[in-house]
Amino acid sequence: MGWLNENSRIYCATGFSGKGFKMATGYGHIAAHEALGKQTIEGLDFVRPDRFKTR
Ligand SMILES: Cc1cc2nc3c(=O)[nH]c(=O)nc-3n(C[C@H](O)[C@H](O)[C@H](O)COP(=O)(O)OP(=O)(O)OC[C@H]3O[C@@H](n4cnc5c(N)ncnc54)[C@H](O)[C@@H]3O)c2cc1C
Repeated sequence: MGWLNENSRIYCATGFSGKGFKMATGYGHIAAHEALGKQTIEGLDFVRPDRFKTR
């Protein structure tokens, strides 16, 4: 869940591994608000696309 990278205009919300339906309302809310630039939700590092990047 998040922008592909810091310069990207692509917002990703994928990889729900067979559990996405029950979480759709929550993650849908987050994706819509972030993609529209309304709000950035804290505490989601565990699902951010850049979490595999070595810092
Ligand atoms: C058999 C089955 C049972 C499941 N049971 C459960 C369950 O009990 N509980 C649960 O929480 N989750 C369940 N899931 C998982 C849940 O359905 C998925 O996690 C969820 O649908 C993922 O949502 P999504 O929006 O990421 O992708 P999707 O729901 O797959 O939506 C992607 C959409 O993008 C469209 N699309 C694809 N390519 C393009 C393109 N190039 N251009 C435009 N549109 C495109 C597709 O047509 C589709 O409408 C199940 C999944 C399956 C297959």
